[in-house]
Amino acid sequence: MKISIVVPSFNEEKNIPVLFDEVREVLKGEDFECIFIDDGSSDETFSIIKGLSAHYTEVKGISFSRNFGHQIALLAGISESLGDITISMDADGQHPASVIPDLIEKYQQGFDIVNTRRLKTEDAGLIKNMTSKGFYTFINKMTDVKIEPASSDFRLMSRKAVDAFLQFEEKDRFTRGLISWMGFKQAFVEFEAPRRRGGVSKYTFRKMLHFAWDGITSFSSKPLKISLYVGLLSLGMGFLYAVYALIEFILGNTIPGWTSMMLVILFLGGVQLLSLGIIGQYLSRIFNEAKNRPHYFIQDRC
Ligand code: UDP
Ligand code: MG
Repeated sequence: MKISIVVPSFNEEKNIPVLFDEVREVLKGEDFECIFIDDGSSDETFSIIKGLSAHYTEVKGISFSRNFGHQIALLAGISESLGDITISMDADGQHPASVIPDLIEKYQQGFDIVNTRRLKTEDAGLIKNMTSKGFYTFINKMTDVKIEPASSDFRLMSRKAVDAFLQFEEKDRFTRGLISWMGFKQAFVEFEAPRRRGGVSKYTFRKMLHFAWDGITSFSSKPLKISLYVGLLSLGMGFLYAVYALIEFILGNTIPGWTSMMLVILFLGGVQLLSLGIIGQYLSRIFNEAKNRPHYFIQDRC
């Protein structure tokens, strides 16, 4: 049985050698390959990968022409993998290599996809924990796929699952959602995420918002519906107000009414912009798909 390990890496020069040592230790005696995807790093990440691959036949490296993001790096690694099973994990030590045997054990019990769930993340901090929890509650309300809270992209897939996964052609990818949507026999393994080994989190607040929005708009058209409902509600209220205004006018009670006028204008303007904005987001996704650009470009390999 051949095992492929896939590691998206963005400015992880210090973490890669440590991770590889751990993986090598855990998979001693196994037939494995370790694929590092350098996602347009600005540090020495790719030289480090090259150095490793010169020493170890197990190491493969791909370097992107620029930063394409974690989800796309994952896709590239998975599509390069040749193993009977493929395991994706982070470069920073937050996905401990010691959990790999548990994943493999589940696979041997007959599961095609083995997901993981973080029990707690030591350095995540209150804000990250709260936003993460809120996000999963929200996404499960808003979308039709079920996504486990605290799930991560530390995951094992059988060859069958990998071949299925590679059939998704969409550009704005939310891997966790796609995996849940795929079906197959899936299992969960729990693990404790330690502190990031070095460097800083590459998921800036902006990237997290983007990720969350991809998750929602990939799997749900509820935001479109909500904008419709809000629009209808405001229309109804506007109609009632118009009736009231007319009656007042007939009774000769009309007053300057600037405030109420402003309120109505502002409210309706807001609702319209909101709806347009939501529609625009979906339109931009369609635009993205229609352009049908490649997912990524590879600049170098080793
Ligand atoms: N990553 C990447 N491209 C990016 C951002 C992150 O390949 O644009 C990689 C990163 O090197 C790491 C993994 O994705 O191996 C998870 O990122 P990070 O640890 O920064 O996220 P966090 O654990 O803070 O959510
Ligand atoms: Mg991390």
